[in-house]
Amino acid sequence: MTAPLVRRSPTHPAKVVAAVDLTPRMRRITLRTESMRGIELRPAQDVELLLREPSGRRVKRRYTIRHARPDAGELDLDVLLHGSGPGSHWGATARPGDEVEFQGPRGKLELRPAPWHLLVGDESALPAIAAISAALPVDEPALALIEVGDESDHLPVDHADVHWLHRGTASAGGPDLLAAALEDLDLAGLAGLPGRGYLMGESRAMVALRAVLEGRGIAHDAIFVKGYWNVGRPDRLAGRAPSRQPLPDRAHDVSG
Ligand SMILES: Cc1cc2nc3c(=O)[nH]c(=O)nc-3n(C[C@H](O)[C@H](O)[C@H](O)COP(=O)(O)OP(=O)(O)OC[C@H]3O[C@@H](n4cnc5c(N)ncnc54)[C@H](O)[C@@H]3O)c2cc1C
Repeated sequence: MTAPLVRRSPTHPAKVVAAVDLTPRMRRITLRTESMRGIELRPAQDVELLLREPSGRRVKRRYTIRHARPDAGELDLDVLLHGSGPGSHWGATARPGDEVEFQGPRGKLELRPAPWHLLVGDESALPAIAAISAALPVDEPALALIEVGDESDHLPVDHADVHWLHRGTASAGGPDLLAAALEDLDLAGLAGLPGRGYLMGESRAMVALRAVLEGRGIAHDAIFVKGYWNVGRPDRLAGRAPSRQPLPDRAHDVSG
């Protein structure tokens, strides 16, 4: 089911060849680079863009490879326009002809066979959820719970039975909406079967949701947890946890 792992690679120069609005808050940026020609990727691998803050300081921001066209050396990145950080700014302003560098592909998620899969996350993980869901075998059912602002954030997700959760004007990044929906989720004939869980989104929210998934019968070791961003903190501080609040369990944060 999975291609051989592509190891982290040197910095790749790429050119933006297309930029289109998918929704009012999600923009698809297509990159082309010779070094991605013929590459084999796993679902939801990502690249680390080398960007600059307004001060000129170099920063890295990670974006999921939503689609790859290895024959053309092209990658589609779906960038959430959530604010004014360097990643969001790049997504909002990238134009065909722009140049950008990235490292990667990164990410070690291996899809393993299971009787069912439960994909959970916020809109920053929508590209990953869609990529993973589309890669699952047709005979392995998937449920997806995706928290977004409102209906205008919806995007197609193949294969999975998707439950969209609208936070409206509430702040992004809390676990409550997803937790309540997970507790109420009708598992019908799937309960009791050894499913796999995937949690991708705001770091502390995803940690909190792990216990909820375990409460729904998914084994601790069958849950993949990946923090994608941290409330109130730019990404350059990701991985540095305040002393009393642990970031995701790195033993299960296996996407690199
Ligand atoms: C493996 C991986 C794959 C990812 N794939 C994608 C992807 O495909 N598409 C995508 O859009 N993002 C993706 N992300 C998340 C993205 O890297 C972060 O959201 C990143 O912080 C965005 O950088 P920024 O410069 O826009 O904001 P930053 O400078 O990092 O942060 C500025 C402010 O914005 C807030 N913020 C950051 N991200 C969000 C958010 N999503 N929602 C609300 N507030 C936010 C921060 O708390 C901070 O206050 C991925 C992350 C990882 C680790």
